[in-house]
Amino acid sequence: MKETAFFAQILGITRPWFISKVILNKEAQRVDIYVEHSSGFAFPCPECQRLCSVYRHTKEREFRHLNIFQIATFIHVRLPRINCPGHGVKQIISGLEERERVQSVAMDMWDPYVAATKAYIPQAQKKITFDRYHVMRLLVDAVDKVRKQEHRDLTEHGNSILKGTKYLWLWNEENIPEYRREEFESLRSMDLKVCRARAIKDNLRHLWDYHKEGWMRGYFSRWYFWATHSQLIPIIKAAKSLKSHVDNIAC
Ligand SMILES: [Zn+2]
Repeated sequence: MKETAFFAQILGITRPWFISKVILNKEAQRVDIYVEHSSGFAFPCPECQRLCSVYRHTKEREFRHLNIFQIATFIHVRLPRINCPGHGVKQIISGLEERERVQSVAMDMWDPYVAATKAYIPQAQKKITFDRYHVMRLLVDAVDKVRKQEHRDLTEHGNSILKGTKYLWLWNEENIPEYRREEFESLRSMDLKVCRARAIKDNLRHLWDYHKEGWMRGYFSRWYFWATHSQLIPIIKAAKSLKSHVDNIAC
């Protein structure tokens, strides 16, 4: 498998987006991944879904992705802007901001990753571990399910406070755009289920603060207790799925 195809699979990059270049710097333990969209692609206006051609791009942006195989991973992308006749200039959010979105529920999250790893790395069998990115993806998906359910429940009572907030809960906090921070802070001060789910997800990041396996396991069992007592079904499911894989989580 080619490097670009491998990373596209790992990162979940799909058409019209593709990886144009991968620069792996082994000494620096860093990989730079350049993402582009195919030319001539019409993107839907975020407001009305009307397909509009791209009229310009932002400057190249670099953002930090969660590590892949413990290698610092940076994504480079220029985001397209469209000019919708009804809504004017709109920036398109690439599939990358939503890259932490997990695919459908039915899919076993580990399988594509395992397959890609086997294809890419000789003797992968012994080296396969589930890294931070994949663990966090599982939790991000659970947070999204909690949000959907809560949004449905609130809407039934005429409360649309969660409308349009999907990515606020999925983005890592440092990736929340400046102009939406206030909105995020105000939602966070409310007693929302999605907020609790997100706190549980965010907390799991500390798993990688521990360098001794015993401590990591200790941390995980405390986290697991918290998650499984949250009364948030998707979070409980994710925690249980993680527990069954915990031996293979990379520290
Ligand atoms: Zn529009």
